[in-house]
Amino acid sequence: MPFVLTPLPYAKNALEPVISERTMSFHYDKHHRGYVDKLNKLTATTPFALAALEDVIVRTWSKPDHTKIFNNAAQVWNHDFFWRSMTPGGGHAALGGTLQKRIETDFGSYESFEESFIAGAVDHFGSGYAWLVEEAGRLSIVATQDAIPPIVLGLRPLLACDLWEHAYYLDHQNDREKFVRGFLDKLANWSYAQEQLSAKHAAPPSQHPEARL
Ligand code: MN
Repeated sequence: MPFVLTPLPYAKNALEPVISERTMSFHYDKHHRGYVDKLNKLTATTPFALAALEDVIVRTWSKPDHTKIFNNAAQVWNHDFFWRSMTPGGGHAALGGTLQKRIETDFGSYESFEESFIAGAVDHFGSGYAWLVEEAGRLSIVATQDAIPPIVLGLRPLLACDLWEHAYYLDHQNDREKFVRGFLDKLANWSYAQEQLSAKHAAPPSQHPEARL
């Protein structure tokens, strides 16, 4: 069973105006689909073809012979996670409950969390992702380079923002800050982040092992 392009959880125009339908079409139909297709080609005749996506990522991480498989597998996982990190009607107004308390405890206030997340995203050089993660019972923000997901760094991801230029350039050109601010203000999916926090262990958002049998 090949790796699949997981359906988007909302319509392609649902995240406007922060992310336009045009950006979603390129990002999902070209970039994300491209990673899935390439991963299937690269793994077709290898034992990785039957492995769970997360296992492929962990087993190819930091292995010079498997850089291409790692990059494409991680990008499939990252995009599955990124799409679910957003929802129409999300953002600051949708934050509440346990997670709001955790953010206030670990960052001091929502405003300092927001400023740290934006600074981490804006200061990140080149392509990658900004993540809200949990490590040893504490929330923090990390930016990872290129395709690297927090799961290979021993961190539990709660929320992801794609910082590759393909994520925002058509809508905001070079203004990464405006894009990331819009992501937090209007789109952040706090229910999804809460699910990740409550889960027994960090799980991929799709393509669970049972789906690979
Ligand atoms: Mn992307």
